[in-house]
Amino acid sequence: MTTESLNELKKQVLACQQCPLYATRNQPVFGSGNPEAPILIVGEAPGFEEDKTGVAFVGKSGQLLEKILKACNFSREKEVYMSNIVKCRPPHNRTPAPTEQSACLPYLEQQIEIIRPKIIILLGSTALKAFFGASSRITRERGQWKNWFGYEVMPTYHPSALLRNPGLKRDAWEDFKKVVLKYRELVDKNHYCQYV
Ligand code: SF4
Repeated sequence: MTTESLNELKKQVLACQQCPLYATRNQPVFGSGNPEAPILIVGEAPGFEEDKTGVAFVGKSGQLLEKILKACNFSREKEVYMSNIVKCRPPHNRTPAPTEQSACLPYLEQQIEIIRPKIIILLGSTALKAFFGASSRITRERGQWKNWFGYEVMPTYHPSALLRNPGLKRDAWEDFKKVVLKYRELVDKNHYCQYV
């Protein structure tokens, strides 16, 4: 049922022309991972590689994210589903405009309704602001559990920020360690992670 509902929604996204990003995209990037994943990861927007392949988080940022997830003993085949605030790549990877975000957010909200994750991880400032408002600050709010309509939400840095500024990696890892602990509390108390 979950997979069918997601596939139905994906068809709508693949045909979507609701904001100007449709004109410059190669293809929309709906999301990838286990449709019944307990963890949903939300980034900002597809980049060059994602736009080319149609798969979420496959570029350099995605590869770094995979390494972090592997250290947590999470994978997109099992524990994780990944998507973005907007499904189409903004030209030159610019931040999606507020009107583009509000046009696209209903798709993410429907993905959340279908997947019903136990934990949502928000990557970076754009994702945090889309959920908690424009006055939110990733540097101030990362690493703290927040509540969004009953969902447990952990904001942390976007992997692209970690690539630009490796000094942030230590903080991001502390945030993911908290996710492992929460996963044990809410999903699987026996979840193995050699670092936590
Ligand atoms: S970014 Fe979202 S709203 Fe805009 S065209 Fe793509 S799928 Fe539609």
